[in-house]
Amino acid sequence: MNTRQSIPENLDLYIVTQQQFERALNWVGDLKAGMVDYLINPKRTTHVRFSIIMDDNSVRTFHGFRVLHNRARGPGKGGIRYHPAVTEHEITALAAQMTWKTTLANVPFGGAKGGVICDTKNLSRAELRRITRRFVIELGDVIGPHTDIPAPDMYTDQQTMAWIYDTFDVLHPGQNNRAVVTGKPLELGGSVGRDEATGRGCLYATQQIIARRIVPGLRSIAGARVAVQGAGQVGGSIIRLFHDAGARIVAVSDSAGGVAAHGGLNPEEVLAHKKECGSVVGLPETVTITNDDLLACDCDILIPAAIESQIHADNAGSVKARLIVEAANGPLTSAADAILQTRNVLVLPDIVANAGGVIVSYFEWVQNLENQQWDLDKVERRLEQRIVGSVGDMLDCWDLIKKNQKTVARKGHSAPTLRDAALVTAIKRLAKVILQRDIWM
Ligand code: NAD
Repeated sequence: MNTRQSIPENLDLYIVTQQQFERALNWVGDLKAGMVDYLINPKRTTHVRFSIIMDDNSVRTFHGFRVLHNRARGPGKGGIRYHPAVTEHEITALAAQMTWKTTLANVPFGGAKGGVICDTKNLSRAELRRITRRFVIELGDVIGPHTDIPAPDMYTDQQTMAWIYDTFDVLHPGQNNRAVVTGKPLELGGSVGRDEATGRGCLYATQQIIARRIVPGLRSIAGARVAVQGAGQVGGSIIRLFHDAGARIVAVSDSAGGVAAHGGLNPEEVLAHKKECGSVVGLPETVTITNDDLLACDCDILIPAAIESQIHADNAGSVKARLIVEAANGPLTSAADAILQTRNVLVLPDIVANAGGVIVSYFEWVQNLENQQWDLDKVERRLEQRIVGSVGDMLDCWDLIKKNQKTVARKGHSAPTLRDAALVTAIKRLAKVILQRDIWM
């Protein structure tokens, strides 16, 4: 049977996340009338247009968004991305994913996301500073330490967070504003361990999944062949941490292409080359590959850590890995999920795999509110506990919903995946909070 042709493809992250949510509902059980509509839609969407003076003295207008998906469990939490392909749809989907991620990780936040349509590769540092400051001014009280708390995401970093904090602080003098944003530099109240938290969480989650013996033929990270798409903040820490855990990094890529070495790459050399030359491509004694080659390369663990919808109906059949760890948000389409399930490739879903970032962001927020600074050991121990807890909750739910599969199979659905189990856990947990709060007046 040619599965590729029989499954309709859709690369739009908004559609993909809705499909994932609707599929998970099959195992959630009865929800109060109106709950699905409430859970699927964002609470608030803010659009802003603002202009800045460019370095050449011209004026350019930018378009930004902040979407608050849900705040029943606490203030909105989610990154801000700067990318030319940002859309309201994409930010809305990512905000919803943050709701499920914070709920599954059991941190007292809701879900939010923001973005500005811009190409950081063609903007100077001064222009980025002006964009960030103006964006924060336009957002006004849409963000705040107890309402909605941004963090870094694609093409934003500690410096961007420092500008956000400073601008907000100038607008709200006389109070402790450090908790308005996480992922800040240490000197401004950032947490130790935040810069590599997403990668470290990914490592802990992968270790847990392997220890539970549910990845066919994979017994340990030590000795496993790992390929990573994306060598940014997340992908960069992943190659270091997985290498330190004994994995062989066989391929790494970025937006310009990738490099491979059968005997394994040295992460420090890869990252130093990227820093110096702008891309991993061209690192001596490596083979240059495309991003498509990387996704299809011979490896045990494939870690997409770049952008969404990278593994889809047309290339999921070529994946050779036994395990895919979604370090990026939404790197697989629903069609890819279905193909990989039939091929027995396990997928560790994004809302578990990359939750380390928001978990340590929560630690940063707590430290800021209490004017404390934790040490690295405390941060890493607490991060590990939370990741172990999330993976455990997901797997307990997986065992449970697999038992109900006969009823769901009658409706034409395949057996539940780890993604289904993660979403079912989060949806049930949030639904319970909503019912306890009795939010409907
Ligand atoms: P980043 O901007 O630091 O890095 C992105 C990397 O992806 C860069 O190396 C870039 O070259 C590469 N890339 C971009 N387009 C690509 C393409 N078409 N093909 C291959 N590579 C491409 O961003 P980041 O913070 O590392 O985020 C990466 C992913 O992880 C995103 O999906 C983000 O939402 C997710 N994420 C990030 C965090 C965090 O703490 N930063 C937390 C959770 C999830």
